[in-house]
Amino acid sequence: MVFRRTHNCGELRISDVNNSVVLNGWIDSIRNIGKIIFIDLRDRYGITQIVVEKEELVRKAKELRNESVVSIKGLVRKREGNPNKRILTGEIEVVADEINIYSIAEPTPFVIQNDVRATEELRLKYRYLDIRRESIRDKLMLRHKAAFETRRFLNENNFVEVETPFLTKSTPEGARDFLVPSRLNKGKVYALPQSPQLFKQLLMVSGMDKYFQIVRCFRDEDLRLDRQPEFTQIDIEMSFVNQDDVMELTEDLLRHIFRSCVNYEIKEFVRISYKEAIDKYGSDKPDLRFGLKMCDITEIIRKMTGKIKMFDEAIREGGIIKILPIGSNMNLTRAEIERLENEIKSLGAKGLARFRVDSEVDWTLASWTKEIPEEVKKEIISKANIEKGSVVFVQFGDSKLVNNVLSFVRNAIAEKFGLKKRDEYKFVWIYDFPMFEFSEEDKRLVACHHPFTSPKEEDIGFLESEPLNVRANAYDITLNGFEIGGGSIRIHSAELQKRVFKVLGLSETEINSKFGFLIEAFKYGVPPHGGIALGFDRLIMLMSGAESIRDVIAFPKTTSGACLMTDAPSVPEEKQLLEAGIRFIEEVKHE
Ligand code: ASP
Repeated sequence: MVFRRTHNCGELRISDVNNSVVLNGWIDSIRNIGKIIFIDLRDRYGITQIVVEKEELVRKAKELRNESVVSIKGLVRKREGNPNKRILTGEIEVVADEINIYSIAEPTPFVIQNDVRATEELRLKYRYLDIRRESIRDKLMLRHKAAFETRRFLNENNFVEVETPFLTKSTPEGARDFLVPSRLNKGKVYALPQSPQLFKQLLMVSGMDKYFQIVRCFRDEDLRLDRQPEFTQIDIEMSFVNQDDVMELTEDLLRHIFRSCVNYEIKEFVRISYKEAIDKYGSDKPDLRFGLKMCDITEIIRKMTGKIKMFDEAIREGGIIKILPIGSNMNLTRAEIERLENEIKSLGAKGLARFRVDSEVDWTLASWTKEIPEEVKKEIISKANIEKGSVVFVQFGDSKLVNNVLSFVRNAIAEKFGLKKRDEYKFVWIYDFPMFEFSEEDKRLVACHHPFTSPKEEDIGFLESEPLNVRANAYDITLNGFEIGGGSIRIHSAELQKRVFKVLGLSETEINSKFGFLIEAFKYGVPPHGGIALGFDRLIMLMSGAESIRDVIAFPKTTSGACLMTDAPSVPEEKQLLEAGIRFIEEVKHE
């Protein structure tokens, strides 16, 4: 029999004293002090203290163990002694009249408490126990609230949530597809969507005007701490808009989410171009909770060719020379410098050159600085705005590497000197991304965002001649150094779309077989349109202060894409393989 609960474990207060109540929940802890037993009863709303005094109930309660599920009927009374200020029900307790035991729990593989000691593997294997812990449970509740508030806000702004298929055709977003073999069409596969990109664009062609979806996306990539093979996006598309319209809508949505979910008023959204971001911070997702700007001194150094060989060489090979001055009060020990140097070596740097500016012309710590003429020193100090007494880090060579390394150093310095304030959210838009980049891995041009992004009007003329200099109407929104979303204004002309595909190396036949349906749709009346997708998991991770994206996903996967609880992925049955018409190249062992 189930006792119907009258209250949850988090809601009884002093005003409920003398009421008869029924609570259901898990035993968080049980203390046996001879004739009396105290139970902390827990559900997702909170904890209530139960006192068992009746003799026959004490006998029954002695059978109980932590995490057993019970129902308690009893009377609310004021707690004797001091209230427990740590819980909201701390002023009262419930004196048990009846106990209904639903299930006795075996000892759990780890103790359910907030500062859990268990390894993450164990917690993921028993994720349902992990979710009983307040810290995971609260994050899932925040996630629910954020999804709910997103829907509320977008609904109020005339957006319509439309579901798009999971069994579909490849949508290029720069990752590998997860493939699903089709039993009914042997030899053919569906791809799970990397994003609903093409469907949301087609919804604009269909006149839906303002679309959104809180949607799962699938990308088969090598996983990192803040990545999952399946993740959730707030996906948005709008017709008759320009870049500012999409940015403003996103800002309003984020303001609403932060206000309603964590009571945080976002003060500003900084906007900087991709070029400026790379120039000043060496990254397209700079953390702007702190300054620490870099300075490119290639042109200044070029003027003194012949003085410092390593710089001359870097310039000759098309590289750059960049410096990162840090505050004069930021002192690093030799051991800290060494550690930093080792870390950047693993990124590919040769070493961590540095000098100190003791006065305008006295530079120490690096003997090569003696070769720099005084007026050049002065020019560098004034361009990079270097305080006297500052240490200045130097990197030179391939621009990508230089920026990567200095950006790493910038973040490490900020971390070390406490500049990454935990309670500050700094939003930064990065816009004017390049349209294409050269993929070293594939040895060809690839789209920086995706191939449906429109080039900037003034750059269209250079699509074929100088593709790497073409800028796109693409923008990213970043938060405290993480990319939390990105989008673009789309191409809405069949002819321009085909030109972009061709720059990306697609033949006419490939264009037709892969994207013919999109090109065709553009023939029948297509509005100008654009949109964005926000990474929902990452957003919740940052909002809740979680360390890892796994903490904000109910049933996440490990970095090798495994679910430790269900043991997915698993070896299929022979019969399933036969039905789907697939055979593995390598023999698999059936257990
Ligand atoms: N489809 C893009 C993505 O998933 C976002 C967008 O362009 O709207 O990253």
